[in-house]
Amino acid sequence: MKLITILIPCFNEENSLDLLYERLRNMTSQLSQYRFQILLVNDGSKDNTLAKMQELHTKDSTVSYLSLSRNFGKENAMLAGLDFAEGDAVILLDADLQDPPELIPQMIEEWEKGYDDVYARRRSRAGETWFKKASAHWYYRILQKFADIDIPSDVGDFRLLDRQAVDALCSLRERQRYTKGLFSWIGYNKKELLFDREPRAAGNSKMNFLKLFGLAVDGITSFSVAPLRLASILGIIISSIAFIYLVFVIAKTLLFGDPVAGYPSMISIILFMGGIQLIVLGIIGEYVGRIFYESKRRPDYLVSEYNGNKVFPGKK
Ligand code: UDP
Ligand code: MG
Repeated sequence: MKLITILIPCFNEENSLDLLYERLRNMTSQLSQYRFQILLVNDGSKDNTLAKMQELHTKDSTVSYLSLSRNFGKENAMLAGLDFAEGDAVILLDADLQDPPELIPQMIEEWEKGYDDVYARRRSRAGETWFKKASAHWYYRILQKFADIDIPSDVGDFRLLDRQAVDALCSLRERQRYTKGLFSWIGYNKKELLFDREPRAAGNSKMNFLKLFGLAVDGITSFSVAPLRLASILGIIISSIAFIYLVFVIAKTLLFGDPVAGYPSMISIILFMGGIQLIVLGIIGEYVGRIFYESKRRPDYLVSEYNGNKVFPGKK
């Protein structure tokens, strides 16, 4: 019998877990031809999430959990889960039930047809602010333009991955992971399913504006050096304009003499250039920062507790 791991990263999800477990059990009980492992990753929760996980584990031995030593962020929590997932296929699911477990049977069907990466695309996003919807819309458009690979819009982490794809993802040990891009980068046979994103079952979103902004920058800088090129192009354009203006100023001085003037234009040009230089420095800084993190070669996460069967190869 094939084993399917359902991998759920959880950060302060004490109120979602029971409901999630019920919904998952309803779903898995209809698929008796598979064995399921529910792997909960506790991403350094501050509430009773871990106790809830322990409770579920005692009640049901197919639920195991992996507890990280602190909050490492969803990207790293997912990597940890992928490292420790035992299944022939792994399904990534959010704990808040925004991704309906009822779509899973359909995913498995497609997997059996030979697809390695069955991902779910949101048809709608209920219960999210217009700001989040609008910024998500524009972000994906910008990312498409910049990134060297094709990252589909409105696709989150909710998906089924074949063992082959899971191993590929685990072999990519880069820092500041942008998993959404890595899914595209690894390739393999992909299949898209549509679903309606539901509002959160309980609690609040754990992703604040700064986290999302950081993730957005990571997405662009980890898959493209286009911003660096943009900086060079900007430099060329501005110095060309400056050169034309220079010729104009010299000609004007020679022809009409030079009454000292032009303080306002001078100060605005200096401020404008200063601003551009700071932006470009910031862009370069983003990439230098990535090199900085990469060169330290710290582990992506630390495990404090685990009760599944897998021995992680990198473990000392
Ligand atoms: N999550 C996590 N670590 C974090 C933030 C979030 O493991 O630092 C988990 C969270 O528990 C949930 C999933 O990632 O299962 C998605 O988070 P959330 O629902 O807050 O994000 P949103 O759906 O608003 O993008
Ligand atoms: Mg959510």
